[in-house]
Amino acid sequence: MTIQILIVEDLPYDAELMALRLKEEGLDLSWLRVQTETDYLSALEGQPDLILCDWHLPQFNGQRALELLRDRDSDTPFIIVSGGIGEEAAIDALHQGANDYVLKDRPARLGEAVRKALDEKRLRQAHERAQEKVRLAERAFQNTAEGIIVTDAKANIVSVNPAFETITGYIANDVIGINPRILKSGHHDAAFYKEIWTTLQKTGHWRGEIWNRRRNGEVFPEWLTISTVKDTQQRITHYVGVFSDITQIKEAQDQINFLAHHDALTRLPNRALLRERLNHALMHAQREDSSLALLFLDLDRFKTVNDSLGHPIGDQVLQKMSRRISSVIRASDTLARLGGDEFILLLEEKTNAQHAAVVARKLIGLFSDPMTITRHELVVTASIGISIFPNDGDDPDILIRHADRAMYEAKQQGRNTYRFFTQALTEGAFERLLMENELRRAVERGELILHYQPQVDITDRRLQGIEALVRWQHPHQGLIPPGLFIGLAEEIGIIDDIGAWVLHTACQQIAAWDEQGFIVPRIAVNLSVQQLGREGLVDRISTELQEAGLAAERLELEVTESMLMRNPALSRSVLGELKGLGVKIAIDDFGTGYSSLAYLKLLPLNRLKIDQSFVHDIGRDSNDEAIVRAIIALSENLGLEAIAEGVEDENQAAFLQQEGCRLAQGFLYSSPLPMEELYRVWEGKEATQTTDIIHDLPDPRVKKSTQG
Ligand code: C2E
Ligand code: MG
Ligand code: MG
Repeated sequence: MTIQILIVEDLPYDAELMALRLKEEGLDLSWLRVQTETDYLSALEGQPDLILCDWHLPQFNGQRALELLRDRDSDTPFIIVSGGIGEEAAIDALHQGANDYVLKDRPARLGEAVRKALDEKRLRQAHERAQEKVRLAERAFQNTAEGIIVTDAKANIVSVNPAFETITGYIANDVIGINPRILKSGHHDAAFYKEIWTTLQKTGHWRGEIWNRRRNGEVFPEWLTISTVKDTQQRITHYVGVFSDITQIKEAQDQINFLAHHDALTRLPNRALLRERLNHALMHAQREDSSLALLFLDLDRFKTVNDSLGHPIGDQVLQKMSRRISSVIRASDTLARLGGDEFILLLEEKTNAQHAAVVARKLIGLFSDPMTITRHELVVTASIGISIFPNDGDDPDILIRHADRAMYEAKQQGRNTYRFFTQALTEGAFERLLMENELRRAVERGELILHYQPQVDITDRRLQGIEALVRWQHPHQGLIPPGLFIGLAEEIGIIDDIGAWVLHTACQQIAAWDEQGFIVPRIAVNLSVQQLGREGLVDRISTELQEAGLAAERLELEVTESMLMRNPALSRSVLGELKGLGVKIAIDDFGTGYSSLAYLKLLPLNRLKIDQSFVHDIGRDSNDEAIVRAIIALSENLGLEAIAEGVEDENQAAFLQQEGCRLAQGFLYSSPLPMEELYRVWEGKEATQTTDIIHDLPDPRVKKSTQG
């Protein structure tokens, strides 16, 4: 590169000489000579690389030239080349910024001085450039929006930038010297960090998304790039982590995600999300062996709303409706809008048909409240179809389709109602639930009553005893027979209360009749299987008898074969205790269960009640006749008295009598009657000699005559 040299010299020859010298030294140069201030100034505009200046000039001088140069803040090397400057002036000049001086009579030094000055300038410039770079880097470090952490090779923080402070809430002093794990969120496992570490060692870089924790405890997502810094020997000296807080990006992503899975109008989950949730719920239910319900809701005549009031109103109806529904469902349930006026409600936890029915009712109740939308008062009802997993299908599409079908049924039924896909559920579910709650209160509300059915001597139709049969006098549904609620009472654990009430009432009743002089020889009370196993049964019975002042013999307990067979040992001991009290035991519905004769022999029984199904077919089915005959023979054999249930006509009565059955119960003689009626009809028809009846029980040792 050619060096531009400005020579300030009044003697052209001297200038030529200098240039020649320098060329001889091997410097590639071009030069310009000036001798006045004006020329000098204009020559400076050309930015020479170096200035050689005489100290004493006729029209100018070196000191002034130096001043002018340094005033311009230029660091162009300035070398004084003078005949005789004098030591003092020379030192002054150096102080004022001259780089060197060369005496004209020692020209050999000129080359060296020029070279040195140029080298120094180059060095100075390189240094400045390096400094500028550092300044720039520093500025970037300070001002970038990305957080930066620099650690040493042991991963201890050596510096962080202001963005780091802003994002994390820590100031530099908090973190310098410690490990960046202070930022750990706890959202990643050890394997995650290990993977970062190995990647860094292997490739020198790691980048990815990571959750960290701010000083205030808040966890946030960041996009992080970590790089290693190595020295010339390829040893890691530092790690640099650059990260940006991507909370907002995440939020935007979430927003997009939300929109993809939700209905814009109601902000409810859409079909896609419903399917996801349903899939998930089905897997869960399958694993847990539990059930779930889908309620398909379709607003009734919504098209009319839209057509007559306009779509904006229609939209508001949908919004209000979805808010109403959302307000009554559990957090674990999902309400989704399929589009139009169709909604689906997914009931997950602890759901069965009854629960679904309750929810459906509740929803229908909700719809009956009018809603006010810009002056319009509207009642928008809905029809609901319900499908249940696993009954009605086990995949999302089928369940939705079946709920849809059931919804269609509900529309057919006149709208504003619900239907189960499985028809039987519609009928049973709610009614059962209703009954359950009401039955619990039936006892205390005094809704239970007893009817009494006479048991007579077939020969003379005199009253030998009565069976107490419970009924539920329901305030709205009328008289409910025991077959419809005894099972339920057992299931929900209130049969004990009912049984206790029956026992008490029956004992009190017969005692009250005694007082009136209407002597009913014996009262039979049915026991349920649960009562038989209950502790305290024998005590309770004995207390009731005492309170009523009744002889134990006048109470008969009816148990079924199957009840006894369920727990033979227990039954045997309980019956033994009852016998000890003096209470009589009858086997109800005999012939329908499977009892072992050997076992029956062990029990302290008094009677067999021939089940009405056999009695019913007397005269029609010879097989049943044979059974009846066998039961009568068997009871004789076991020393028990037989009584036929469900005797409805004279033929049956005649057959029974002929086969040696002395006692009967059935419509032929009387249906079960309320107490006043029983008294009215049967008073005076009771067995004449009460005591006879009571004690006229078959003696096991004596074969009974069947003549009547
Ligand atoms: P059960 O003990 O075998 O009672 C006889 C059933 O036959 C009674 O039905 C009675 O009304 C009916 N019946 C009587 N005569 C005739 C007839 O000639 N023809 C026909 N077809 N039926 C006749 P109910 O009152 O509906 O009782 C049904 C069952 O409920 C009883 O069968 C008994 O097992 C149970 N039950 C009744 N009261 C009680 C009670 O207080 N406690 C318990 N645990 N169970 C009871
Ligand atoms: Mg009975
Ligand atoms: Mg029976």
